[in-house]
Amino acid sequence: MPELSHRVSTFTDSVIRRMTRISNQYGAINLSQGFPDFDPPKPLLEGLRKTADEGPHQYSITFGAKNFRDALARKAEKTLKRVIDPETEIVVTCGSTEAMMTAMMTVCNPGDKVMVFSPFYENYGADAILSGAEPIYIPLVPPEYDFDLKLIEEGFRQGAKAIIICNPSNPCGKVFTREELENIGNLAIRYDAFVITDEVYEHMVYEPYVHTSMASLPGMFDHTITCNSLSKTYSITGWRLGYLIGPEYVVEAARKVHDFLTVGAAAPLQEAATAGLQMGDDYYRELLRIYTEKREHFLTGLDKIGLKHNVPQGTYFVMVDIQEFLDRPEFSGWTDLQFCEWMIKEIGVAAVPGSSFFREPVNHLIRLHFARQTEVLDEALRRLAKLK
Ligand code: GLN
Repeated sequence: MPELSHRVSTFTDSVIRRMTRISNQYGAINLSQGFPDFDPPKPLLEGLRKTADEGPHQYSITFGAKNFRDALARKAEKTLKRVIDPETEIVVTCGSTEAMMTAMMTVCNPGDKVMVFSPFYENYGADAILSGAEPIYIPLVPPEYDFDLKLIEEGFRQGAKAIIICNPSNPCGKVFTREELENIGNLAIRYDAFVITDEVYEHMVYEPYVHTSMASLPGMFDHTITCNSLSKTYSITGWRLGYLIGPEYVVEAARKVHDFLTVGAAAPLQEAATAGLQMGDDYYRELLRIYTEKREHFLTGLDKIGLKHNVPQGTYFVMVDIQEFLDRPEFSGWTDLQFCEWMIKEIGVAAVPGSSFFREPVNHLIRLHFARQTEVLDEALRRLAKLK
């Protein structure tokens, strides 16, 4: 048989998305791949109906329909704290997955180093391989998921082209403080490097923590590529609408990468989603209220069962410690992946093995998400109680 590229043998399929498939196969409650089980807001659904009748049904401009980019710019201005030019500073992509891939391909030459925190959202590993970049991993050390700034400086000193920051962080729920971002940003400026951020959970930041966008810090817009999406904020993960925002010369190059990768995100969905972007601050407050309640409810449930876990500052993910089970004779020598597969079949709840997020040999953590209706979370908790 003809040989495949070497590239494709150096990474596996996404474990997150594989867990969803196994979960579906066994009819488990899927708390692995993070997506909500409730409807998108009404204006988006109405927009979708209207678009079915009125269109557009053909390509939009490759880097995003004008009205969609205009609406994105107006929304992003609030967090980025500057006027965003929709004509030159935005690329609409197929989810933030494509935004991140495009950002990496835009700034990296093969062999360039890129810093990635560990634990990290697993896409970044494959993104690095596909763009030819070599990751340097910077540990986020539990339980606080702190990092050592000296390691980041060392990475930049070794010539790292960029650092990827997922803020709030998937999977550990860390929300980077303004001071942490300033420290990293100052290094990026000093070493003339990029910060590529993934801010898809920007509206899921729990009190007293606050979200700060790297690009909003003084001097940082020119060094930052902000990747974001509508998936989590408007509960439309299947619409695959994302975007990146950056300085004009970066965006000009990123548009070329994007154009040849995908041509464009679905035009009818951009049209339909534009309505969502007009919603006022009340919408984001209500979304946060809902997730704050779910977090409280789910974490309290885990406490009642006696499962050890972190307390996420942001996102809808929680890391649960399974060491006590791995210490039992019947699970002796098991990997976290085996444990998750067993949990799907025998407990009826799907989680993601922590090892898929860590560079270090971590085997005692699994990731669950709580973007589920209360009854579903309650049933998941009843099932998880059987672990004990
Ligand atoms: N970000 C989500 C997660 O970590 C999933 C995103 C995806 O599968 N594209 O579960």
